[in-house]
Amino acid sequence: MNGFDADRDVYRTLLESTKAIPWKIDWHSMTFSYIGPQIETLLGWSPDSWVSVNDWVERMHPEDRERVVGFCVSQSQAGTDHEADYRALTRDGDYVWIRDVVHVVRNEEGGVESLVGFMFDISERKHTEQQLIRLQKELEELSYKDGLTGIANRRMFDATLEQEWNDARRRCQPLALILLDIDNFKEYNDHFGHLQGDDCLRTVARILSRAATRPRDFVGRFGGEEFALILPESDARAARTVAERCRQLLTEQALPHPAALATPTVTLSLGVSSLVPGEQDCPLAFIESVDRLLYRAKQSGRNRIEAG
Ligand code: GH3
Ligand code: MG
Ligand code: MG
Repeated sequence: MNGFDADRDVYRTLLESTKAIPWKIDWHSMTFSYIGPQIETLLGWSPDSWVSVNDWVERMHPEDRERVVGFCVSQSQAGTDHEADYRALTRDGDYVWIRDVVHVVRNEEGGVESLVGFMFDISERKHTEQQLIRLQKELEELSYKDGLTGIANRRMFDATLEQEWNDARRRCQPLALILLDIDNFKEYNDHFGHLQGDDCLRTVARILSRAATRPRDFVGRFGGEEFALILPESDARAARTVAERCRQLLTEQALPHPAALATPTVTLSLGVSSLVPGEQDCPLAFIESVDRLLYRAKQSGRNRIEAG
């Protein structure tokens, strides 16, 4: 064995004993001239089964194909080294996340001659990454979502009101707030039990979400059996229309409430107001003024809207 062959053997042994899987593609014929035997351990496809670039494309997750193939082809044509992450199909029909790191080899004239690269198994890393993203999402939802009804919670209400307040003030636009409270809900719970009380809260939350139709309208649980709607770019009239719609939709739902005195169904009392926030106004005072209107609706007999 001459020196060159000995070196080749050393290189080959080195290449084939790493976890990274080496490969080489001939640019003109678009065929694999080499792929490390480790590929079979990772994906189950024997090295002989990797013939053309098509085999590589076909063993890629359909959702990754267009992005990855398009990117790799354009980078290779430009002669730029690159890398891409994608899911590779295993012989058992599963997918493994792979990072392909590609080096473009040029001939003496500068044309692309071949591509050489390594495939790395990055499934562990992807798994951790995806788990982190999921946890993060869950955390966000937990901290801004009301656990019982699934709509936004008080914290989200505070954050949204502040944001919409500043926006309305800057753009001199009216901002409306509706605070509403289920009438005689204590009796509802006493009559049907807490679990059905919870169901009733969910139904009301759903109805309110239907009543607020614009994309930026906000519906949240203010606490207990109280809810709040923030309606950007809405004057008193528009806000009243939404409040009426809330009452109308709940009336249509006709949730029985035998313990209520005036009506045999679940009803709401609502306080509604709109303002263009000025220098001297503040969100807290606005909430308090709408809360006073809600209180007035209760005092004047419930199942009504008080606007101010
Ligand atoms: P009003 O018409 O004056 O609003 O009378 P109300 O009975 O609705 O008001 P009150 O404040 O006396 O009672 C509120 C009730 O809401 C009492 C409480 O048990 C119930 N409630 C608050 N949060 C929940 C909840 O998460 N689930 C259930 N089932 N009930 C709740
Ligand atoms: Mg109530
Ligand atoms: Mg209440």
